[in-house]
Amino acid sequence: MTLPQSLADVDSSLPGKKYSKLPVKVRQFVDKTLRYDVDTVKGIDDPRNPEHQQTAAEIFWRLQQGETLNYMEVAHARLSSLPRNFVVKYADDISFDYDSYKPIEDNPHTHAFFRTITRPNNRMQHLAILTRLLILEEQDGPADISDTNVSEFIEKGHHPDGIGNYSYEDTAPARSALSNMHAFHCVFRSDITDGSGMRELQAEYVIISLYLLLRHLRKHYVFAEQEQRLFRAFTIWFDKRRRDRREDDSDIQVFTSRRQQSGREIKIRDRVIRQLFFEYARTQGTAILTKDKKRRFNESERIAIYREVDGVCRECSKLGLPDEEAKVPWSEYEADHVVPHSKGGLTVVDNAQVLCRAHNLAKGAS
Ligand SMILES: [Zn+2]
Repeated sequence: MTLPQSLADVDSSLPGKKYSKLPVKVRQFVDKTLRYDVDTVKGIDDPRNPEHQQTAAEIFWRLQQGETLNYMEVAHARLSSLPRNFVVKYADDISFDYDSYKPIEDNPHTHAFFRTITRPNNRMQHLAILTRLLILEEQDGPADISDTNVSEFIEKGHHPDGIGNYSYEDTAPARSALSNMHAFHCVFRSDITDGSGMRELQAEYVIISLYLLLRHLRKHYVFAEQEQRLFRAFTIWFDKRRRDRREDDSDIQVFTSRRQQSGREIKIRDRVIRQLFFEYARTQGTAILTKDKKRRFNESERIAIYREVDGVCRECSKLGLPDEEAKVPWSEYEADHVVPHSKGGLTVVDNAQVLCRAHNLAKGAS
């Protein structure tokens, strides 16, 4: 390798020279004074091992991209990190064809989540976002997700057999991230046109906060079609309100003045956006129902429900059957959710009715 032309500014005799042709003084300077940071990649020294060849080829290609590497690009080179492999698989635009030793302009695994946002993947920004989401999943909510935290997270995931190892996918944070990203994509899938997503989904701190909001909703509330539509409408409404930046809009002021990626700032943004969402839902006349963990009525509830209507099946009664015929024997009666549990209906006496076995089955089938 010879020295580049750009060194002519320093000394016109340097460009084009190899180390061996440099003046003694310069060589001494190089040997004794200059310090180099070196990343050592071990365990890829068998030239006949295809995996070793692939790894070396990939590193070489990455280095050829030139420029100083940013924190995410450095993390990208940590081939032995399990979360790194996960992040590269689902967030990188390109993949690597190991047969031809060339990058290919396509990655079949890129998660659809990234098509919903308009933030480009310059300098691996998508990989950084996905790593941040993984940290939030691991911490089960707001956490420090600065660039340093991202680097540390990837570093921490180093594994002696990490190269080509995709086992991180089976961890709870990874599964949860994939599931929430899928739900996110479902909300905005109709907005993806010509390869670009929602223009409201551009700023990273907004994307992060919306992700956390969606995650919270899915965890504690019913998040079906109606709620998905509401979430989408809220995203547009929220973006407009954020852009308007009215001086008397203290919620938005608090939100936009906390763009940093520390756990504390994220927590404050999380509180604001959550409040705004529930207020918005109220103005739209949409009730956000909690998911009730309890699915079955207990014995005393069953008794209360039965007694209240003297054991008469509501559906039989609606069909016009006299009470004596519509009455269900205690042993055959089923306490049924009026609003189904799957749609957020609570397991409380107020949301219960007596059904005969046949009507309960019929309802379950529909
Ligand atoms: Zn009936």
